[in-house]
Amino acid sequence: MENLFGLAGKRALITGSAQGIGNLLAKGLAAHGAEIVINDITQARADEAARMLVDMGYKAVGYGFDVTHGGEVEQAIAHIEQSVGAIDILINNAGIQRRYPFTEFPEAEWDRVIDVNQKSVFLVSKQVAKYMMARRQGKIINICSMQSELGRKTITPYAASKGAVKMLTRGMCVELAEYNIQVNGIAPGYFATEMTSALVNDENFSAWLYQRTPAARWGRPEELIGAAVYLSAPASDFVNGHVLFVDGGMLAAV
Ligand code: NAP
Repeated sequence: MENLFGLAGKRALITGSAQGIGNLLAKGLAAHGAEIVINDITQARADEAARMLVDMGYKAVGYGFDVTHGGEVEQAIAHIEQSVGAIDILINNAGIQRRYPFTEFPEAEWDRVIDVNQKSVFLVSKQVAKYMMARRQGKIINICSMQSELGRKTITPYAASKGAVKMLTRGMCVELAEYNIQVNGIAPGYFATEMTSALVNDENFSAWLYQRTPAARWGRPEELIGAAVYLSAPASDFVNGHVLFVDGGMLAAV
């Protein structure tokens, strides 16, 4: 009862965590006691981000692999489990955005968005869950989006992928819950990061956002840490298949 939110002795793999929201969640989980495995598509960026955590006094290692390549993922997860240790917490965070009108969307760009945002959740979770099932313990958090529920012009594949990640969260919950694995989602509203920098710098967009969001502001990335700690910790052991919106009230408003 006294350690509901503690992560000491736990190890978390966070995909796409060399920068942005993933990197912030890495720091947040580390501050609550977790050892961190940083992933990025390049080894150099993963190493650099891990080194920053180590410099802050936390335990961290970097693993470069492309979350869209099943073979690379399988090898990397096996290597982490054998050489670093058990993955207790997985955060499927890697994601990309591409913007085109629907009828002009290049097929290759559509495929890339779906592969990085959606297929990667299947590929990485599939490998990690096998080890978690054997231990009968694990936490998986899928980073969803407002577009898990809402459409928006020029980002149709992003919305399609994030809607699918919401349903992957439920499907994985249904299959993995009996192994004491909790699979939940976090759906960030609009947060100022590299991915959204074009929107943050667009005065018209920010004006729309302030009017559309009951909290009337951009989210600060550190405001996602509480949800991630909760869904990684014993406090959420009977919470499963749920998507927690951290959005300043946006989903509640017309
Ligand atoms: P970001 O700053 O662009 O970070 C995404 C990270 O994913 C980058 O480090 C990127 O590495 C990595 N990545 C991309 N493709 C990869 C691959 N194939 N394999 C491994 N790593 C890969 O984005 P963010 O804003 O922090 O977004 C993180 C997650 O939150 C995404 O799933 C996004 O959809 C979601 N989200 C963001 C917001 C927001 O307001 N920012 C809102 C809702 C949801 P490289 O840079 O080296 O390619």
